[in-house]
Amino acid sequence: MAERSKAIRPMGVGELEVVSNGESIKTKVLVNASGAWANTVARLAGAIELPLHPCRRHLFVSPPLDWVDASWPFVWDVSHDIYFRPEGEGLLLCACDQQELPPGDPPADETVRELLAEKIQNYIPGLSHVSISRGWAGFRTLSADGRFVIGWDPKVKGLFWVAGLRRSRRHYKFSCRYLGRRVDFGRIRQKIRSLFTR
Ligand SMILES: Cc1cc2nc3c(=O)[nH]c(=O)nc-3n(C[C@H](O)[C@H](O)[C@H](O)COP(=O)(O)OP(=O)(O)OC[C@H]3O[C@@H](n4cnc5c(N)ncnc54)[C@H](O)[C@@H]3O)c2cc1C
Repeated sequence: MAERSKAIRPMGVGELEVVSNGESIKTKVLVNASGAWANTVARLAGAIELPLHPCRRHLFVSPPLDWVDASWPFVWDVSHDIYFRPEGEGLLLCACDQQELPPGDPPADETVRELLAEKIQNYIPGLSHVSISRGWAGFRTLSADGRFVIGWDPKVKGLFWVAGLRRSRRHYKFSCRYLGRRVDFGRIRQKIRSLFTR
């Protein structure tokens, strides 16, 4: 259903009816994968609400940089919460900002660009000369314990939750182990290291 559901009604025969602007669909299984809106959809269905926290985060991209190699891995300074990775011919950068907001289209906060500049200056000085061509904000929805919320709703039969999705360090550890077996880090280690030193 491409449009947003406006109502979700149990039909009493093991089915749920989902009503959107243009149509009504009857289904035995409805997956609540509505990200920051997961509790809004749960409310529509008469389900329990969960402690989910939609948090805004900004991403920034640089113009093309001829010294960036598209094969570089994701580089995350977990001590200072800042990361970058190749994006197109330039870099994608994130200061790992986090602000809880109601679900919607999150407005961009200009001060986060300053936070990014400050973190780069302090922790990855080799990127200090990199300019920013574009930035935007989106939601990461955090659960109370940081884990994914995946499973059947205990109250509404047929409603299945897939919420609280976001990256976590644990997912990165897995990805890095996987990646480590495939990428020759020796080749790029020196260049990446030089970005962290003055
Ligand atoms: C800056 C930033 C960087 C990120 N980087 C990464 C990354 O590198 N790797 C990674 O894995 N994750 C990343 N994430 C997290 C990732 O974007 C989210 O975890 C992911 O988008 C959540 O997916 P989702 O399907 O749960 O929700 P969403 O992608 O938000 O999708 C929810 C959908 O539900 C729809 N919806 C809402 N209400 C209704 C309704 N009533 N009826 C029907 N549909 C509805 C919405 O329109 C939307 O399309 C990042 C997030 C941010 C903000």
